[in-house]
Order: sequence, then structure tokens, then C-alpha cells
Amino acid sequence: MSIVILRVAQYARFSSDNQRSESIDAQIRAMNQFCKQNHWQIVAVYSDEARSATTDNRPQFQQMIEDSSKGLFDIVLVHKLDRFSRDRYDSAIYKKKLKKNHVRLCSVLERMDDSPESIMMESVLEGMAEYYSKNLGREVMKGMKETALQCKHTGGCPPLGYDVDENRHLTINEHEAEAVKIIFEMFAEGYGYTAIIKHLNEHGYEPKRGGIFGKNSLLSILSNEKYMGVFVFNKSSPKDADGKRNGSKLKSQDQIIRIENGCPAIISKELFHKVQQRKRANKRNTGHYHEKEFYLLTSKIFCGVCGKHIQGNVRYSGRSKLRLATYRCPTLRKFCNNKENNKDYLDAYVVELLRTEIFNSKKLRKRIDAVNAYVERYNAHYETLFTEVNHQLEEVNQSLANITTAVEKGIITQTLVDRVEELEKQRSELQTKLYNMHLLEPLKYGDFSHLITDFQNMQRGTEEFRTFVQSYIDKVVTFPYHVEVYLDVGFGVTNELTQKIKIRRGELYALFESRIKEE
Ligand SMILES: [Zn+2]
Repeated sequence: MSIVILRVAQYARFSSDNQRSESIDAQIRAMNQFCKQNHWQIVAVYSDEARSATTDNRPQFQQMIEDSSKGLFDIVLVHKLDRFSRDRYDSAIYKKKLKKNHVRLCSVLERMDDSPESIMMESVLEGMAEYYSKNLGREVMKGMKETALQCKHTGGCPPLGYDVDENRHLTINEHEAEAVKIIFEMFAEGYGYTAIIKHLNEHGYEPKRGGIFGKNSLLSILSNEKYMGVFVFNKSSPKDADGKRNGSKLKSQDQIIRIENGCPAIISKELFHKVQQRKRANKRNTGHYHEKEFYLLTSKIFCGVCGKHIQGNVRYSGRSKLRLATYRCPTLRKFCNNKENNKDYLDAYVVELLRTEIFNSKKLRKRIDAVNAYVERYNAHYETLFTEVNHQLEEVNQSLANITTAVEKGIITQTLVDRVEELEKQRSELQTKLYNMHLLEPLKYGDFSHLITDFQNMQRGTEEFRTFVQSYIDKVVTFPYHVEVYLDVGFGVTNELTQKIKIRRGELYALFESRIKEE
């Protein structure tokens, strides 16, 4: 039996602004006593005399947080939680840091707070921390913007053809500028990338960082407005401009700064625009360009053979190279022998199901009635259920108390430590469950009847429609020869009301292929 001796760092704070506060000596004395009772080993003592309750001027506190990452101790012990931090915001942040370093925070006077409210508070505060760090990013951006407004280079390697002078303004590098001119002129005249790259190599031109030019570096040069004298700051990268990467939409227009004649031009505006035209024409011809496929069932569809999330897949099939979008298991042909399903058929089938099974006045009434029957059953058993959960919680608390007794007698084993962790997890789950338990309200059909017209009128192929549809789909599971659709018909009251509908794959295909023929 291995005995784990937990190592403790004590933290004490004496605030001179508080007359009633315990002296550091008294705090340490109480903590020593507590450690002795728990058979903990004291490995460090940190203490601050803080004039105010703010964290910043507590050097020892900061040291303790820093040391927590070094594996020197398992527990930080304070006399009272307000010694740790008075500010709930700070407290959550530092608690999170300790947790990340696998260090527990304990208090002599308070039992650690695992209540749902405090768990919730912690997550809200974590969210706030994130907000502040993003805001900080915005401040940095503001500074860069000021610099850019003076047409100063904001950092990094300047583009090919330019150098940066001592005032951080762009100046022309004559030799490199020749390469830029060649790239634009050749491209405008219809030369391909390979020909341009060959020419540049043969004439001794190199990219800014050396080596040889590649297609991507040419593309980004051909998209850079600086070459016609427009100083651009925080423009999306050329990859974004080609639509190959998403997410660039997040950048709002006001963050992009364009200043005409903000830097010396290397080529004319006419040449630049001619090149953009040719780029657009190329894109249309090569077939690289196609609209993004819309998958209605994304994130709700699973492989019944291997259990993986199923993904959308597009390929060009048959002799006529018809575009075919499917739902396809990601491990297909490697580990999984499932079959892919035609995306259009499956999406259409699910929409059809929602129409026939939920969104018509007859079915919707029945569904609401079913939810109300559930509400009645639930409410009738509520008392029993509540008592049961309470009882489970008592049992967990009792087990924890038993372990505390064992620990007080000096028994600390890894098994016990694991058990405590498990019990604490159970306890917080049960507490959350209790916290969320309440009697259910029956639904009124009149509050839901608008869903039928919503469903009919909502524009297909939109995010709004997908969200709507997905809130009535629990999951879709595909198998080699059939598909199972699980409708979620709890209407937000419960997730226990689902209906499974099964269709053979052949039937699904026949249904829609025949329809296409009819049209
Ligand atoms: Zn699979």
C-alpha cells in the first residue's frame, strides 16, 4: 500500500487596512494545526502584507502561483478564502491556474465550494477573462492602426520590391522592383505561372527570403495593391481573396485601411486591374471555383458501422463527371465498410420526414399532447425523483465523510485519493442535477402552431433552416443497407422523447431517383 503524503504550500495575507484581521502568525498557527491533522507536509510558506485587496502588489502570491507550475506542492492552503483573493474575478483566474497545474486550493475555515452557483460563476468569469484578453488584442490593433495611418510598415518582412527606411516607410528596391514588373507584365500577357517562374530564375531574380519563386508567392504578389501605390493594412491575405480559406469574413471592413498613394508605386493601376481580370477569368475556367455545398445534417450524422461522425464529401463521378455530394464515413475504405449516401436524397428525405411526422396540424397536435403526457408523468414522480437524487447525494457525502475519518486516522492511499476525486465529481453532478430539477409546465398548442408555417416558409439552404431542422433531429445513423433517423420531439421540455424512423437505402434511392425521372 503506497502512502501519498500531500505537500502543502501555505499562503497568508495580512491586510493592514483591516483592524479585525488575524495576524499572519495566527493564520500560520491555524494552518500548521490543520496540516498536522491531515498529515500534510508543509513545503513552503508564502506571505504578503498587502495594503489593499488587489492582487498586483502581492509579490509572494505571484511567486506562489508561479511555483505551482513547478510541481513543488499539491495543495495551496489558506486560512480563509478571502486571504487567497477578495476579488471573485481574480479568484477564478488564479484558481484556474492552480487547477491547470494540478494544485488544489484548500481553506482551514471554509469547505471548498462545489455548489452549482459557484461552478457557474467560475465559467462566467472564465468567459470574462477571455473577453478581456480579446479586448487587449483590440488595443494592440489600435496601435498598429495608428502606425499604418502614417503609412508606416507595421512589422515583418516588407513585400518584394520594397525596403523599409529608418522612418519605417516603404522605399523601392530597384532590382526587386524589376522582378515585380516582370511578374505583372508576363501574367497580363497570358503567360502561366511556370513560364514566369522559369523566366525569373533564368534572369537571376529571387524571392525576398531567397530560394526560388513558387506559385503561391506569385499569387500573393499579383494580389498586392501596394504595387500600384495603395497602402493597405490588415487586408485579408491573398489566400482569403481566392476564397480558399474561410473565416476571413470575421474581419470587418473598418479594420482594413487603404490609403491611395500611401507608398511608392511599382506598376500602373491599369496593369494591376488587367491582372485582376485575368485572375478572375482563370478561376472560372479551371473549375476550381464552385459554390460551397450545403449539408443539412452536418454534426448530426454518424456512421452506424464504426461510430464516427460522418462528413460531407464532393466528387465528380461517372463518364460525364457529374458533381456528386455525399455523406461519407471518414474512415471508409480504410477501416470501415459502410456505404456513402447521396446528400441530396438524404437531406430531402429528412425534410420530408419533418413535414409528414411533425409539421402539419394533425401531427403537431399529437406531438404536443405526447410532451404533455410526459410532463404529467414526470410531475407525478417528481417528489420520488427528488428524494432519490437527494438520497444519492447524502450517500456520496457520507462516503466522503468516511474517507475524511480514514484520513484523520492517518490512512492516505492512492486508491483513496482516486475515490475522493470520483466522489467529488459525482457530488457536483448530483448537485447540478438537483439545482436544475423543477416541476414541468405543460405546453399549449397555440404557442407552437406557428412552427408549421415557419417550416414551410423558411428559405432552404440557409443556416437558419439548418438550425431549425437540427433542433428536431436527435441524430441520423447510416448503415450499409439502411438509414435510421431519430427525431427529437421533446420540444425543449425533455430530451427523452425521440422517435426512430428507419428506411432501407434502396428505398431511399428509389424514392428520389424516380422523382427526378418524373420531373
Ligand atoms: Zn464508418
